[in-house]
Order: sequence, then structure tokens, then C-alpha cells
Amino acid sequence: MTTAQPQVLDVQPTPLALLLLGREADPRSERGVECPGDLPSPSDPDLVERARAAKEKLGDKVFVLGHHYQRDEVIQFADVTGDSFKLARDAAARPEAEYIVFCGVHFMAESADILTSGDQKVVLPDLAAGCSMADMATAEQVAECWDVLTEAGVAEQVVPVSYMNSSADIKAFTGRHGGTICTSSNAEKALNWAFEQGEKVLFLPDQHLGRNTAVRDLGMSLDDCVLYNPHKQGGGLTAEQLRNAKMILWRGHCSVHGRFSLESVEDVRARIPGVNVLVHPECRHEVVAAADHVGSTEYIIKALEAAPAGSKWAIGTELNLVRRLANRFAPEGKEIVFLDKTVCFCSTMNRIDLPHLVWTLESLADGKLVNRIEVDHETEHFAKLALERMLALP
Ligand code: SF4
Repeated sequence: MTTAQPQVLDVQPTPLALLLLGREADPRSERGVECPGDLPSPSDPDLVERARAAKEKLGDKVFVLGHHYQRDEVIQFADVTGDSFKLARDAAARPEAEYIVFCGVHFMAESADILTSGDQKVVLPDLAAGCSMADMATAEQVAECWDVLTEAGVAEQVVPVSYMNSSADIKAFTGRHGGTICTSSNAEKALNWAFEQGEKVLFLPDQHLGRNTAVRDLGMSLDDCVLYNPHKQGGGLTAEQLRNAKMILWRGHCSVHGRFSLESVEDVRARIPGVNVLVHPECRHEVVAAADHVGSTEYIIKALEAAPAGSKWAIGTELNLVRRLANRFAPEGKEIVFLDKTVCFCSTMNRIDLPHLVWTLESLADGKLVNRIEVDHETEHFAKLALERMLALP
């Protein structure tokens, strides 16, 4: 974390330190994941031309997906941009593309593999691009949690609802136990559906999206929610607490959105009179409660498109996106700043950089399939069940 100017700045070239990630420059954080082959040097002046040439050679065989939080140097090669679910659906709608290059993080590539045909191969340019939130709920921990709910005598009343930002294993668990997936756009609908099926919801893995949706949109009280801590015996909850709760929130969060604080909101209001504070529902409850507007990345983009000239906005979401939106809307006279005073990228999203993209595209163009993400058949079956329940939501 470094101190930033309060005003959003022009896009700068990617810092070298970040470009080096995934090249064994930081073996501990790379968690032992190696990229086979030789990555191009980040200082190679021909990277843009090389990416363009490899993509051209692949033609319709490749479809490049760019998540909103990706760097500009990568986004420029995306055939389509969006949130994780939109991108997975876009990929499924392009069956002629043999290779889906997902510029995003691991769980997104898994979802794309689940939703695309068996002939399509999903590729993640850097295998170390995970998601700290998704990693906060493992299959073993969630199975143990279900045992705790069973022992407390409440499992039969519980419907799991898992955020899209979860591993394929967690999505499959959700499908097996009659639950659904949700995105930050349809979490309210998903919860309403779940409460028609059962009396309680186990919400995974983002406690903040679960709490914010239950309290803001469904009118529950904070006391209706309990926090299940997978690192504590019995989740740190008594059987009585589980029996009394309506929302059982998994103790997971996004390390990017979790950084925004009430002080960030108060500070920006003091600095910029008349500013509209617009935050993502992955932010903490007190931040969401203090904001003027709350919504998904797609909601944020639409809100800024519709904003009048001269309006001022402080945005609480990932910095690559905020910076791009600030640059896009500046000519229309809209002032857009990052909500916090400190720079906060999603470090795992940032692992996908131009050298990794060039390496991936050139390998595919040479007929070498690299970094394929493939979900096994059984996991895919149950994860798809949960995703299909989401698609059937009213
Ligand atoms: S922004 Fe948060 S939820 Fe999204 S990929 Fe990064 S850590 Fe995961």
C-alpha cells in the first residue's frame, strides 16, 4: 500500500515490481506455482505488437475475456469486458472459440469452464492469480460446517447461497445441498428465493455481501445474522445461536473492498462537498450504511454513465476500474475519485500482466495448450445445478 493523490490520476505504466510477479520474483506469494516456458521480459518494447500478432494468428479460435479489475495493458486485448458471470456467459455464447483466455482470477476461469462446452478450453494466463476471498472457504471447512449445523439440528432448515466468488468445489457443495449461486447484482433475489425454500441461509464466502443484502434489502436486523468462523471449534457459535439465526454468514471477505472504512467516507465528504459516495456491496456494513449508493460493478458503471455533467463521485471498488472510469468520464465533466486515500489494487488480478498474456497467446498460436483450467465432471455437474438455479431466479 502506498499513499496516493486524492484525485484519480492518469494511467501510468505498470510498476515493474508488479510485472515481475509470477516470475519467481516473490516465490513465497507465488505459492510454488510456476509458469512453464519462458515469459517475455516486462521491458520488451514489442510486447503490444507480439500480443496483437499472436491474437491475429489465432483469429476466431481465441476469445479473450477481461474482468473489470484488470490492468489497462491487458484490457486493451479483451474481446469483451465485464464481471465474472457476464464473462462466463459471453464465453459460452462463442462456441466457435476453442480457447477462452480468461484475464481474471482462478474461480472465474473455473466458472467459465463449467458454463462452456466440453470442446472449449479455458486458459488462465497466470496460475497464481487466485482470489483471497474464494480461498477463505475450502471444501473441507464447508463440509465440517455442515456437520456442525447437523449436530445443532438446523441443517435441514438451511439453504446454502454462495457468491459467484467461490471455488467450483463450494459451488458444487451448494448445488448438492439444494442451494443457489448469486452475484452482487442478484443477491437480494437469491436470498428471497432461499427463504422460500428454507428458514435459514448459510451464506458463503463473503460475510459482507450476505450481511448487507440481508439488512439493507431484506430488512433483517444485525442480530438475525451470526458469523461462522471456520478456524474456531463449532464455528465459534453455540447450537442456540445457530437455532436463533436467520443468516449464518461465513467469515470471509474481499481484501480489496474490506479496506474501505467509515473514515474513508467521512474524509471524502469533507474534502469534496456534494460528492456522491458509491460503493460495492462487498464493503463492510458501516461503509455501505454511510454510502449514498450501493451496487455491483455493472451498477457502478451504469450509474456513472447516467450521472449528470458536473457531478462528483467517490467510488469504493477496485482501483483499476475506478481509474479507467475516471478517465472515461472526465471529458463529460464528471469528477470521479477513488474512495480511499491509499492505492488498493487487487494483487491477484494484477498478476495477469502483458508478459503473461503474450506468453499465453504465443503458446496457443504455436499449438501449445498452457495453463488450462478444468473442473472435474462430478464437481461440474453439481456446480452447474447451483448456477442453473441462479439462472432460473425470477
Ligand atoms: S477484488 Fe476481492 S473478490 Fe475480487 S478477485 Fe480480488 S480479492 Fe477476490
